Amino acid sequence: MNQEKIIVIDFGGQYNQLIARRVRECNVYCEIYSYKTDIEQIKAMNPKGIILTGGPNSCYEEGAASCSKEIFELGVPVLGLCYGAQLMMYLLGGRVCKAPVREYGKIEVQIDKSSKLFGDVSEKTICWMSHNDYIEEKAPGFRIVAHTTNCPVAAAECEEKKLYAIQYHPEVLHTQEGSKMLCNFIYEVCGCTGSWRMDTFVENSIQAIRKKVGTGKVLCALSGGVDSSVAAVMLAKAVGEQLTCVFVDHGLLRKNEGDEVEAVFGPNGPYNLKFIRVNAQQRFYDKLKHVEEPEQKRKIIGEEFIRVFEEEAKKIGAVDFLVQGTIYPDVVESGLGGESAVIKSHHNVGGLPDYVDFKEIIEPLRNLFKDEVRKAGLELGIPENLVYRQPFPGPGLGIRIIGEVTPEKVKMVQDADAIYREEIAAAGLDRGIGQYFAALTNMRSVGVMGDERTYDYAVALRAVNTVDFMTAEAAEIPWEVLSKAANRIVNEVEHVNRVLYDCTGKPPATIEFE
Ligand code: GLN
Repeated sequence: MNQEKIIVIDFGGQYNQLIARRVRECNVYCEIYSYKTDIEQIKAMNPKGIILTGGPNSCYEEGAASCSKEIFELGVPVLGLCYGAQLMMYLLGGRVCKAPVREYGKIEVQIDKSSKLFGDVSEKTICWMSHNDYIEEKAPGFRIVAHTTNCPVAAAECEEKKLYAIQYHPEVLHTQEGSKMLCNFIYEVCGCTGSWRMDTFVENSIQAIRKKVGTGKVLCALSGGVDSSVAAVMLAKAVGEQLTCVFVDHGLLRKNEGDEVEAVFGPNGPYNLKFIRVNAQQRFYDKLKHVEEPEQKRKIIGEEFIRVFEEEAKKIGAVDFLVQGTIYPDVVESGLGGESAVIKSHHNVGGLPDYVDFKEIIEPLRNLFKDEVRKAGLELGIPENLVYRQPFPGPGLGIRIIGEVTPEKVKMVQDADAIYREEIAAAGLDRGIGQYFAALTNMRSVGVMGDERTYDYAVALRAVNTVDFMTAEAAEIPWEVLSKAANRIVNEVEHVNRVLYDCTGKPPATIEFE
């Protein structure tokens, strides 16, 4: 694909994925690469522009993440953000040191409107800062185009060489005019045309899949979630009957979900594909017996999934391709795309064993963020209720049951979750909240019911608001809704005597519990 592209060079900053998303919101395709990426490889990608991210290091310290100085001589525009800005100045002969006053939070910045970055930005604008170091002295050939009370170089530029350095974080929404600034870099400096559009992506993907698959047979791992559903429909449109969707009911699905998936993708649904449902519940329960460690559970579930597919594939005959609904954050969070640490291995990425009996894996959504997957889904004509379905992890309830998974616990969390979702929907909150679900904690505690002592489990309710699932805040659910759900859960779900609400955001918590 020869499309215009911006490259984000990741120095381990917290917001690296946000940068890529913001760029894509400006309709320009963007990918994240580690700062260790070879300069030749970067050149070969022929980017329209390069963005250097923030990062935890101090650029003047030994062993700090760095890049080749050559990156500034490619003739490709470079925008350094925070650490990236400091590094640019440092490598090009400026001075970076510990700031006398560190800046954190929303800070008013005075900008110079004559910079291409700031043409349509207000002269005083609120920006998000998060730095201990600062640029004490700009590099030769640069001019300062923004400052704050405590930060003499909040932005600097060398227009001639198309190099730009910004100390704050325009990618964070707290920077009120941040998107404008990024857009200005992309359009005014890099000269992009804005060719990243979901309809073309979908169309190109379908064509590319057709070409790749040829007359081959394709097997799709259908979980019923948004990602795998979108992937499945894309494949169905590309190769129709050559596609067999295997839906593994691993016994870790939400209440009634297996039947719901079958209703959509099965023989009575609208799509032209072969659908096989495998009821493998007991197999998964057996494998998960006595296993408590989250990563181990994820691996077991992921591996068992692959085994089930292999068996189905053998029954079907030779299969050439396996489809997975991996999306971009899975790739990056698994430590593959950028520089961020492995937080948890993703079912679709980390759980894949070495031995797989297929010729190749197709991941048509591998480069998309969640909101882009939804847009692609709508573009493919998938009904809205499916596209906006609550996200559900590959390992399913396996990671919403803390500790050992048993069929009894699965039933508890299914019932509690169904009640919670019913109450959220009844209050009209279902489309307003990013994600919400019930989990079963591993905690048992004393309660009293019908004058009798109980020693039962605690259900944790979770609801978060998020744009991109990279960061999230706990949602403020009205008390009436929570207390009604809590009441119903302890009354209707056996062996649950306590309901807790999770108030933490991501970070420091993750959205799922394990
Ligand atoms: N570590 C650098 C500093 O403290 C950069 C911080 C960042 O990129 N957010 O100034």
